[in-house]
Amino acid sequence: LSEKLESAFKGLKGQSRITELNIASTVKEIRRALIDADVNYKIAKEFTDKIKDKAVGEKVINAISPGQLMTKIVKDELTDLMGGQEAVFNAKGNPAVILIAGLQGSGKTTFSGKLANFLKSKKGLSPLLVAADIYRPAAMEQLRVLGEQIGVDVHIEPDNKDAVSIAQNAVKEARSKNKNVVIIDTAGRLAIDEQMMTEVANVRAAVNPQEILFVVDSMTGQDAVNTAKAFNDRLDFTGVVLTKLDGDTRGGAALSIKYTVNKPIKFVSSGEKMDTLDVFYPERMAQRILGMGDITTLVERAQAQFDEAEAKKLEGKIRKNKFDFADFKAQLEQLKKMGNMKDLLGMIPGLGNKLKDIEINDDAFKGIEAMINSMTPAERADPDLIDTSRKKRIARGAGKDISEVNNFMKQFDQMRDMMKNMNKMGMFGKMMGMKR
Ligand code: GDP
Ligand code: MG
Repeated sequence: LSEKLESAFKGLKGQSRITELNIASTVKEIRRALIDADVNYKIAKEFTDKIKDKAVGEKVINAISPGQLMTKIVKDELTDLMGGQEAVFNAKGNPAVILIAGLQGSGKTTFSGKLANFLKSKKGLSPLLVAADIYRPAAMEQLRVLGEQIGVDVHIEPDNKDAVSIAQNAVKEARSKNKNVVIIDTAGRLAIDEQMMTEVANVRAAVNPQEILFVVDSMTGQDAVNTAKAFNDRLDFTGVVLTKLDGDTRGGAALSIKYTVNKPIKFVSSGEKMDTLDVFYPERMAQRILGMGDITTLVERAQAQFDEAEAKKLEGKIRKNKFDFADFKAQLEQLKKMGNMKDLLGMIPGLGNKLKDIEINDDAFKGIEAMINSMTPAERADPDLIDTSRKKRIARGAGKDISEVNNFMKQFDQMRDMMKNMNKMGMFGKMMGMKR
């Protein structure tokens, strides 16, 4: 085998299996999407490395490009990582006790109200809200107002400075009033704080909750990891609530937290209205983190690959050494649909490797197109027809130098020679990515 052929052959192998090379740009794109979505940087890297390991060597079946397959692998993996299916939320008990913990401002009080509303209207339960934030009178008032708004009783003891006894009294009240679920809204601090942790841990020990929910602001993307870890070490919580998932927030915190503490995310909440609480669906979050736009782009690119009929036609022409400028132009059209040239060269069956050596960039492609456009149909169909005077005319039409036309013609000839050689070796099936 000549060196040229050998390297071309290497390029071909990449078409039937995912290799480091043909997914390098996809992996980079995924990592960027994750970081844009506020996934912790280190986790984004670990995740994409893992994905890459998993993907490399995967067989690319006919009519699916490595990029397309990759997208699927990523979405599945992301969904899996975040729990696969929706998590179980346990609100059974007599009464069931649910403890809410998190930093100040994370949205605990708002979430407590939303959860009470959700359990009341969607699950037919009768909840009791408990104001156990003893440090700020305003916090108790805030919960009282929310309770009134949704028609749920609120247990308040304005003069009691002991969160543990407030919680215990509330459970007693719930029993006597036939409330079957108690939601305890606790105090938070601006940062992780020993006193706060001890207090929540004591409440926990006193009332034995079915669920301990850690509330975290999804806009604190990168910090969320440390906070979640500190709370989990101390409380061993049963689930995570992601708040403020409004508007553009991509929710990368969901992935970071799940990855770090491996606890299920149970609810997501957005907006300040009481009815904006949702059960957490991993698949939806995976799509959100990847950005619907990004995933659509990836899939669209993959779909713009050469279709089989087109490839067969091309194969026939190459087999008869009839590959011409019209075919070349059709290939360019396909390429253009797929986006950035440099990123995509590796994906083109056979041609990719050859063109890579020539270092063609997007602008150069425009020039090439202009030259082909300046050819007559007869010239496109029969490149050998193009003599010096025709070259001059083509150069003028394309606004190029005659030397550029010469260069292009030379490259095109080389490509055809290569194809001819490969033809002799019977490598076309593989080259066009078709099964035999
Ligand atoms: P806490 O200190 O943890 O009890 O947090 P709060 O429930 O008092 O919420 C802090 C602030 O965030 C308040 O102004 C809330 O109205 C607001 N907030 C809470 N949850 C959300 C949410 O999901 N979306 C938006 N946009 N704001 C929220
Ligand atoms: Mg509060």
